[in-house]
Amino acid sequence: MNNQKKEGQKTLEALYKELIQRLTVSDIESPVLDARLILMKTLKLSHLDFITGEKDITFSDEESKSVYQNLELRCQGMPVSRIFGEREFWGLPFFINEHCLDPRPDTETLVEAVVRAYKTQKNEPLRIVDFGTGSGCILISLLHEFPNATGLAIDISTDALLVAQKNAQILGVEDRMDVLCSDWTKGLNQDEMKQFDIIVSNPPYIESGIMPDLPKEVIHYDPHCALDGGKIGLDPYKILIPQMNFLLKSKGKTFFEIGKGQESEIIRLVENTDATLEELHRDLSGIIRVVEISCGDK
Ligand code: GLN
Repeated sequence: MNNQKKEGQKTLEALYKELIQRLTVSDIESPVLDARLILMKTLKLSHLDFITGEKDITFSDEESKSVYQNLELRCQGMPVSRIFGEREFWGLPFFINEHCLDPRPDTETLVEAVVRAYKTQKNEPLRIVDFGTGSGCILISLLHEFPNATGLAIDISTDALLVAQKNAQILGVEDRMDVLCSDWTKGLNQDEMKQFDIIVSNPPYIESGIMPDLPKEVIHYDPHCALDGGKIGLDPYKILIPQMNFLLKSKGKTFFEIGKGQESEIIRLVENTDATLEELHRDLSGIIRVVEISCGDK
């Protein structure tokens, strides 16, 4: 980057306008934000550079080439987070790749619900299990919030567990997080029964039949096994809900993320066990996104 404009070189301002234009004609939902993110991340510019920086700075041919390559990927539908292999979640930078779901802001509702429910036990040695951990975003954010908690990250994909482990290292919680490759609860031993204070999970909950209708940003880039929840989208809950009481200590709690409109079915599944529905939590769009359930042992 420099300030000496050579013949034919584009300024930051010109590039920004061009990117917005290209993204708009490619029907990308948030062209202005994505143009800015592509430029910032490719050219290693800060927010400040962007807001107050000189609009006439120019770039080397190499830098411009990278900008256009990344622009091309975004125009084809690849999300910005996938292009750069990074997604911010709960204010923390998570590494992501093709083996894990791209963490969504909606899932922060789950982290928030746990933090709120355990605010008076912030320094307790809570034991947390996360089913279908993916990038590890939920569990790692919680370990970050609860400095004496420990966690078990479970996923059926060993490739996803490598991502979760890498994130635990990057974010400094690897000493407090174990990983287990397991098909839901199948790989848990007898000595892990009644050991957990908290169960968390954002399992796949999309109905198989509507998978083809998902936006290209989702269907082409998120692993299908992280999305597809079976015929009516509830398969993982049908497995996990009856198991909760075996895993939780008395007074333990479960927090599930759910899909839009799935709450009544989930409540019905909970009513078939000894557990009690405690609270429903809405996301920023007002959709019921998280169910909080307490263990049957009172
Ligand atoms: N728990 C992970 C997340 O929230 C992965 C969820 C999934 O793969 N369905 O991002």
